[in-house]
Amino acid sequence: MSTGEKVAKSEEEWKKELSPEQYQVLREKGTERPFTGKYWDSKERGTYSCAGCGQELFESDTKFESFCGWPSFWDAIDKTKVAYHEDNSLGMRRVEVTCSRCGGHLGHIFDDGPRPTGKRFCINSASLTFKPAEAGSSPKP
Ligand code: FE
Repeated sequence: MSTGEKVAKSEEEWKKELSPEQYQVLREKGTERPFTGKYWDSKERGTYSCAGCGQELFESDTKFESFCGWPSFWDAIDKTKVAYHEDNSLGMRRVEVTCSRCGGHLGHIFDDGPRPTGKRFCINSASLTFKPAEAGSSPKP
């Protein structure tokens, strides 16, 4: 489900489709409490998609242990999948990451990630859905 066209829905529609937790994160830019989400500690191989619109966002190959309590990735599947926005809320200067297709809030990006990018995409579990890799498929080089 990544056809490229944008997904635009009313807040009413989003409220109907998403769980309260997903709605709070994706549509109201909430943050789940650290170490509480579904995926922060997951090491399974597969693909993480946007819980709002289904666009594929991150591969488990780029997930790493950051011990910050949220799923952390050092890159997105490709740069067209995410969008960046300056976020000066809470007295901090941060860069917000959203899904490029539906505009859903995913989390923030920081410069303290591992090589090769040095980036840390710090993403809420609630904004993601996970699809395990098919058994027998080989990891990407
Ligand atoms: Fe999306």
